[in-house]
Amino acid sequence: MDLFYKSTRDSKVRATASQAILQGLSEDGGLFVPEQIPALGVELKELAEMTYQETAYAVMSRFLTDFTESELKDCIAKAYDSKFDLPEIAPLTKAEGAYYLELFHGATIAFKDMALSILPHLMTVSARKNQVKEEIVILTATSGDTGKAALAGFADVPGTRIIVFYPKDGVSPIQEKQMVTQKGDNTFVVGIRGNFDDAQSGVKAIFGDTVFKEELAEKGYRFSSANSINIGRLVPQIVYYVYAYARLFADGEIGENEPVNVVVPTGNFGNILAAYYAKQMGLPIEKLICASNDNKVLYDFFRTGCYDRNREFLLTSSPSMDILISSNLERLIYQLADQSDETARRLMKELAENGCYKITSAMEEKLKDFYGGYGSEEETAAAIRSVYEAVGYVIDTHTAVASCVYGKYKKETGDTAKTVIASTASPYKFTKSVMEALGESAAGTDDFELADRLATLSGVPVPQAVEEIRTAEALHNTVVNVDEMKQAVKRFLG
Ligand SMILES: *Cc1c(COP(=O)(O)O)cnc(C)c1O
Repeated sequence: MDLFYKSTRDSKVRATASQAILQGLSEDGGLFVPEQIPALGVELKELAEMTYQETAYAVMSRFLTDFTESELKDCIAKAYDSKFDLPEIAPLTKAEGAYYLELFHGATIAFKDMALSILPHLMTVSARKNQVKEEIVILTATSGDTGKAALAGFADVPGTRIIVFYPKDGVSPIQEKQMVTQKGDNTFVVGIRGNFDDAQSGVKAIFGDTVFKEELAEKGYRFSSANSINIGRLVPQIVYYVYAYARLFADGEIGENEPVNVVVPTGNFGNILAAYYAKQMGLPIEKLICASNDNKVLYDFFRTGCYDRNREFLLTSSPSMDILISSNLERLIYQLADQSDETARRLMKELAENGCYKITSAMEEKLKDFYGGYGSEEETAAAIRSVYEAVGYVIDTHTAVASCVYGKYKKETGDTAKTVIASTASPYKFTKSVMEALGESAAGTDDFELADRLATLSGVPVPQAVEEIRTAEALHNTVVNVDEMKQAVKRFLG
């Protein structure tokens, strides 16, 4: 059966999966959502025998119904190969009463690799299917990890260019170095004098600029997005929740259909939305625990039903979660409103105009699958220390937010269900904060020296992704003001 996608802001807009992937965002500013969430339709015993790649096919083929079997299998084979440093792709580590699902074994050591190593392949197949002749220009706003993962995925992919905007003072030194050393003639990296929300709003504004779009079309370019607003990012992220559940079952850690909780350190609400879709497909997930850092808009939302971004934007030790406008929440809102485009349109207008909105009590009722929590800077550091002291396992700052929130959740509810924590980055990406949390002085040392010390301390060797930027030369040095983003795009495209 064919699955179509519609816009959250206009139900009349209808697209195939490949069209939705090519477009990224709907023209009305809405996000593409599947008309219904397909059932998984595979027995757990079968899933338990599958490799990551086979699981990816089982899940993704339900969503991308206009891809042929060989097209999709080819994309999967090209994405989940030796770029990942373990054949399991996404291994589970049991520590302190939870299962850490390590999503950072790809080329750029953050979970963004899980989707961005396949997106370029989905995109080029989509272009071919829809007879797209223009060059595809990927415009991306990043809070640090998407940028590098997208650059690595799209570098030198024929028929594409990629432009990444990142907050100049809002990413970790390793994150910045990873991006500005990116090779590839089709890659452009730009720092902006602003925060992630500024970068994301700027990119969305360029997408919505129809005059600019026509101008570029004449020159042979069309835009698409590698952010998690693209359904081609979201669908590959559902896979690892199914895979993790099947692994736990195969390893005898859980019984058949035993409910588990999932904890996700959240920023743009993409990763946790993928877990929600996995649940809708029939995976026995009980609670979806949404963990925020001090930028706790989502925590407040789950508590009050009121989304309010009117607050100070804080820079934390988990920069990839420093976000006040969680774009993917729109997809959940739409679902909660029984797929009413009218409601989604109204609430998003309120958000754009007043910076806040409140959902109805009927919608709030349906939020009970979720639990919102947050971890302060001190609590996050304490979580890193406590897991390390208990079992010698070093987690990164984002994963630590989740670990801390899980601790609070258990204390508050007494829930003892088995729990998977999405481990979204390698500690090597946030070395300074991690070492400080472990009580190691970071003063006067650079990130690479610290990485060597972390290797001694954790027994985990310095990953290739860090080794390769140690001596690499910076190739990108453009920094612009927020209102100059469009100019920068024009300049790059000649
Ligand atoms: C992007 C990112 C997050 C947040 O994920 P969302 O899908 O935006 O909610 C959390 N941790 C790390 C390390 C990330 O890179």
